[in-house]
Amino acid sequence: MKSRWNEDEAAAWGDDLGLLTYASRLLGSDPSLVLHGGGNSSVKVVERDVFGDPVDVLHVKGSGWDMATIERAGFAPLRLGRVARLADLDELSDARMANELKAASLDAGAPAPSVESILHATLPYSFVLHTHADAVLALTNTPGGRDHVREVFGGSLVVVPYVMPGFVLAKLCAELFPAERHEGTVGMVLLNHGLFTFADDARTAYENHVELVARALAYVEAAGGPPTAATAPAPGPTSHDDLVAVADLRRDISAAAGQAMVLRCCGGDGARRFAARPDLESASQVGPATPDHVLRTKRVPLVGRDVGAYVAAYEAYVERNRARLGDRRLVPVDPAPRVVVDPRLGVLAAGRRVADAVIADDVYEHTTWVIERAVELGGYASVAEPDIFDVEYWELEQAKLARQPAPAALSGRVAVITGAASGIGLACARALLAEGAAVVGVDRAGGVDEVAGGPAYTGVRGDVTDGATAVAAVEAAVRAYGGVDLLVLNAGTFPPSAPVATLDPAVWGAAMDVNARAALLALAAAHPFLCRAPGGGRVVVVGSRNVAAPGMGAAAYSASKAALTQLARVAALEWASDGVRVNVVHPDAVFDTGLWSDEVIAQRAASYGLSPEQYRTRNLLGTEVSSADVAALVLALCGPAFARTTGAQVPIDGGSDRVV
Ligand SMILES: [Zn+2]
Repeated sequence: MKSRWNEDEAAAWGDDLGLLTYASRLLGSDPSLVLHGGGNSSVKVVERDVFGDPVDVLHVKGSGWDMATIERAGFAPLRLGRVARLADLDELSDARMANELKAASLDAGAPAPSVESILHATLPYSFVLHTHADAVLALTNTPGGRDHVREVFGGSLVVVPYVMPGFVLAKLCAELFPAERHEGTVGMVLLNHGLFTFADDARTAYENHVELVARALAYVEAAGGPPTAATAPAPGPTSHDDLVAVADLRRDISAAAGQAMVLRCCGGDGARRFAARPDLESASQVGPATPDHVLRTKRVPLVGRDVGAYVAAYEAYVERNRARLGDRRLVPVDPAPRVVVDPRLGVLAAGRRVADAVIADDVYEHTTWVIERAVELGGYASVAEPDIFDVEYWELEQAKLARQPAPAALSGRVAVITGAASGIGLACARALLAEGAAVVGVDRAGGVDEVAGGPAYTGVRGDVTDGATAVAAVEAAVRAYGGVDLLVLNAGTFPPSAPVATLDPAVWGAAMDVNARAALLALAAAHPFLCRAPGGGRVVVVGSRNVAAPGMGAAAYSASKAALTQLARVAALEWASDGVRVNVVHPDAVFDTGLWSDEVIAQRAASYGLSPEQYRTRNLLGTEVSSADVAALVLALCGPAFARTTGAQVPIDGGSDRVV
């Protein structure tokens, strides 16, 4: 933990707001200080209003901005005097406070100001920086938290007991800080919450922050690392049975949440060692490292796999505390766990979207770090259950929940697509990602890794005719997202045209291998997971118009696609009782795919006595069919319109007089 302040970089940021942005980014880019939107910062400056009159302005971090990447526009400019004066009120509801802060803004387009704005306004320094540093939490989240703070920092920090963030905290700090501040005061620590530093220049505020955290870290490390460093970590899901257990867990969590959820297996060594602790039950059930983490991880994780017991305990917790809402209506928060700690499977993180699970994973990784260090300092302590409830069911958070837009149609669902690097497969991958699904793309082409960035997509390179590829794809889906709900069998080959009389049996065999046998391998690998898909598994097979209307010279292609279709029909029969729907699309003449080179188009056109141009639109509607059109149909087959359909074959060919 060292200062990363660079005078040349700082100078490039220019004025005080620029320097605040720079200092905020330096703190925000260290996850041991700030995680996913946590922390906040401010600067007080004098600016001129529209009349040219000077105004004291507090630029304070806006909600929705991350300190690691914040821009000048991420700070809300507030009338300082008006905001500071709010601390003189005896009472202010959170909704009223949010309104007052918004109304104090000098820019109607600015983001909603941080709920800590009043606290920032009352501190008598230009620059104020606030983080939830892990090392500081490890000190304060102990029964002797205040003593540890005194031992590490002497009297250089004002110590504030835990109270709810927002108006109550601002009010308490506005009383305590002037009373306890002295010449040597360099910061303020909020027990079970975090650290404030301040100064009249950005560099001092930043460097004091880093220096204080470094001292906390040295103290924490001197107390010794976690004893589990010497013991074997939880193995994580290694066997097929483990992977099935992950899918079972995800199905139960989704049922509890009332919608499909992804469940990520967290690979970190620290997380797996934590899961192997002999005192796991007691160490993990105390509470979050800082109360706002409750929104990411819930108050406590599920230990083991009994989701039903977790839900019952969560509902009892809500009942115990709901009177705290007074006459406020309770907006329900689903009772499903967001973190699972299992001595065999390790740590798993759940979310409505992959991004939510990734955040829960990150937050819990830091939580386990804090817990393990605090235990070495005499025991881990969190704030009391009612205080956690107050944050989880906070008026402002409840308002956000009530405003939350409906999730994307396939949010929380997991798809595996073969042949995903190009053509119809690529179009399906993009369409499914756009509708909120997590996607595993399989292809032998290297481009499969670059289909999409971000954690919602995973590429698996391999030949679909190799059984190991199907197994690898399914395992990747279970490890990264918790299961397989949608299987799109798209990988295919179009062998060179040849009449039956002279068709090379090797060409026939190769077509059968890719177009039919590979599908069997993928279906077999995915079946245990499709059976466990929340809301039922769905398989969409990309067949061909040639199944109903074969083409001369295309025996190997037509026969292999017919075999594939028959395979799908039998799967529809056999898997209906598992709740798995299997449907087939029959595209024709989709020319923006890898199958169709100009040469193949010319060959096929010639076999019908047509020009390539006539061949492209030779259908009843006289229209071209694109990969994206087929993907839209695949998406529809996975959606509610076809929820009661299995074993269907839907053409997408512009209309064929040989099929209708
Ligand atoms: Zn805070």
